[in-house]
Amino acid sequence: MRTKPIVAVTAGTILQEMRSLNQKKADYVPRPVIDAIGRNGMIPIVLPYFEYGEVDDFISMFDGLVLTGGANPSPKFYGEEPIWSLGATNEKRDLFEIPLIQKTIAAKKPILAICRGIQIMNVAMGGTLWQDMSAQKESGSFVQHMQKFDTSMGHWISFEKGSELYDLFGEGMYVNSRHRESVKEVAKGFHVVARAKDNMVEAIESDDHLHIGVQWHPENMEEAMDPLFVHFREKVENNRK
Ligand code: MN
Repeated sequence: MRTKPIVAVTAGTILQEMRSLNQKKADYVPRPVIDAIGRNGMIPIVLPYFEYGEVDDFISMFDGLVLTGGANPSPKFYGEEPIWSLGATNEKRDLFEIPLIQKTIAAKKPILAICRGIQIMNVAMGGTLWQDMSAQKESGSFVQHMQKFDTSMGHWISFEKGSELYDLFGEGMYVNSRHRESVKEVAKGFHVVARAKDNMVEAIESDDHLHIGVQWHPENMEEAMDPLFVHFREKVENNRK
């Protein structure tokens, strides 16, 4: 009888030219995500986008779902034309993950959604995104959310009082930031639990607290973000009982 919960981790796909043919279109999960899952008591399985079956076939394989970073969700899935400065998209991944998210939520299995993950989860549940906060002036964004360095944290975020993130981390903290899109209208059944100083959404959670999305990359903050992964594991464990 297995003791640790299994979490499925969605894979990105390398789309650019690579030296080896088999590295182009290779599915991948960043190693720090696997390490954070392992360090905090969970077993990972990697879930690449898959066009040959129903997502239902995957749901029974895992106790919880981690949505990783990667290409921007395509605006067509929230009813917009692409603006000129939209970043790279991967529609096949969107087409797999949207029903995967909907069915994981319907099955009441916990989700931890990271970067692209918070965006695609919001879109899958009916919300919308800024395609490019800095180009879309009406967003009001003035903070640099696409940081040009990886040696330090990018910008400050504040947690909503009473939220689980507030309980874990206090009033706020500096986090990394590598995104062009961000949550605009929050999906029904979710609420905002963290914002940057320019009011851009940095975290959302479902009203039943089972599904949380963060716009930063917790896996790149090492032990500082272990409380988030531990908290996720506890949700997954409670849910299995
Ligand atoms: Mn940010």
